[in-house]
Amino acid sequence: MKNNNVGIIGAGLIGSLLGIYLSKKGMDVSIYEKRSDQRKKDKAQEGRSINMALSDRGWKALEKIGLKDKVKDSSIPMYGRRIHDEHGQTTFLSYGKENQAIYSISRSHFNQILIEEAEKEGVNLCFDHRCDHVDIYKNEMYFSLPDGRKLKKVPDVILGADGAYSSLRDAMQKQARFNYKQEYISHGYKELSIPPKDGDFAMDPNALHIWPRGTFMLIALPNPDKSFTCTLFLPFEGEKVCFEKINDEEDLESVFRTYFNDAYRLMPNLNEEFFGNPTSSLITIECYPWVAHKSLLIGDSSHAMVPFYGQGMNCGFEDCFILDGLIEKFGTTSWDLVFEKFQKIRKPDTDAICQLALDNFLEMRDSVANPKFLIRKKIEAKLHELYPEEWIPLYTMVTFTDLSYADAYAQGKLQDEVMDRVMSDPLITQNWQNLDYEDIIHQIETAKLV
Ligand SMILES: Cc1cc2nc3c(=O)[nH]c(=O)nc-3n(C[C@H](O)[C@H](O)[C@H](O)COP(=O)(O)OP(=O)(O)OC[C@H]3O[C@@H](n4cnc5c(N)ncnc54)[C@H](O)[C@@H]3O)c2cc1C
Repeated sequence: MKNNNVGIIGAGLIGSLLGIYLSKKGMDVSIYEKRSDQRKKDKAQEGRSINMALSDRGWKALEKIGLKDKVKDSSIPMYGRRIHDEHGQTTFLSYGKENQAIYSISRSHFNQILIEEAEKEGVNLCFDHRCDHVDIYKNEMYFSLPDGRKLKKVPDVILGADGAYSSLRDAMQKQARFNYKQEYISHGYKELSIPPKDGDFAMDPNALHIWPRGTFMLIALPNPDKSFTCTLFLPFEGEKVCFEKINDEEDLESVFRTYFNDAYRLMPNLNEEFFGNPTSSLITIECYPWVAHKSLLIGDSSHAMVPFYGQGMNCGFEDCFILDGLIEKFGTTSWDLVFEKFQKIRKPDTDAICQLALDNFLEMRDSVANPKFLIRKKIEAKLHELYPEEWIPLYTMVTFTDLSYADAYAQGKLQDEVMDRVMSDPLITQNWQNLDYEDIIHQIETAKLV
């Protein structure tokens, strides 16, 4: 078929899913991945992997290509946040209505499922192919192989799914009028774990556990083997608790005993993991345009975000779903039109979710432990229960609907203004059960008209 030879750079979550989508359309798809084939590594070499929270947008994209059930078998539902205070007391805060959940899944296992499916669909997977350079106007991709060989490939179109440090984006940055902005946030993260206890989960398995402590926090997500994967978010440097100030076992024990004592008691491998695992940084990236000649950026390569809304992968999956819809509408003889429409539709949405992810960083870090915040969430849940159409909490719009991120963001701003007014009542902690909920809904309806 004409125009149907597609080269994807990167076999991460987005590149693999995209490969399946395009191959199902009858295209001739090759994916070039710099890493070796992780499926060939034995279990001992595999190491641990961070966990992803998969939500509705991601499920929708998986469902369209018939992968929902397969992935569900490897995931664990989390129905809410379980917040741990410094004394080990916990509070459960539902994410949505009964049975609404986000799903914990190991990134490496998930990636392997997608790679296997891509292969079954006839995608040509080329591991150990590092893309060094792209000549955008000649459609040429240049690769290095581990044995030193160099290769050139010339597909009809190039899709850059090679993540936050994309080689295709590097090439686009050399073009005139390409906008690019990146920011490392003050915090980094480290993976830790809570193993099973007496053969079972050491904590409630159906929740995302959070230990919010002002400027830092710990989270834990369940795994099918009954362990939890934890992520510790700390500032790199500063006055208080930070990576720079934890230099030995004594420092580490002191921080964990003081701030995360209930978790500490469940972490027999804390020392080895903390000092053995890398400390990774967190970046947010905005760029535009995403299209140059016959190439397109997709997923993190075009919109890397901090992980605090659990949407980076879900958003990248939605990218694939939307691109697929445009191909269905305009056909692949019009790649230019498809790419142009894609970036125009998607950019306002990805800007919105990148901003929400940054905002949620502050919320998870500072507010979740605040009693007023908990009441605010309860009022919003009650409003949603009484007026399910008129009031949908922002988190629900982002996580459990496919409303565009930009619309969710705008609606969330209006609701925030109304909730700020409600919460400004000094007696709100006593009175919140007796609020005039109809009046609050009236305020949001009025705000929409302004
Ligand atoms: C701590 C943390 C927690 C997160 N939690 C969640 C979550 O709960 N839910 C969620 O939705 N998202 C989450 N995310 C975001 C999610 O991980 C990313 O959005 C997602 O992985 C993006 O996928 P991608 O395929 O675009 O990029 P990547 O996952 O970065 O994959 C890019 C691929 O391209 C390959 N590659 C890179 N450069 C080259 C090259 N030059 N040549 C060839 N191959 C190359 C890489 O090896 C990799 O396989 C989290 C992120 C972090 C950091």
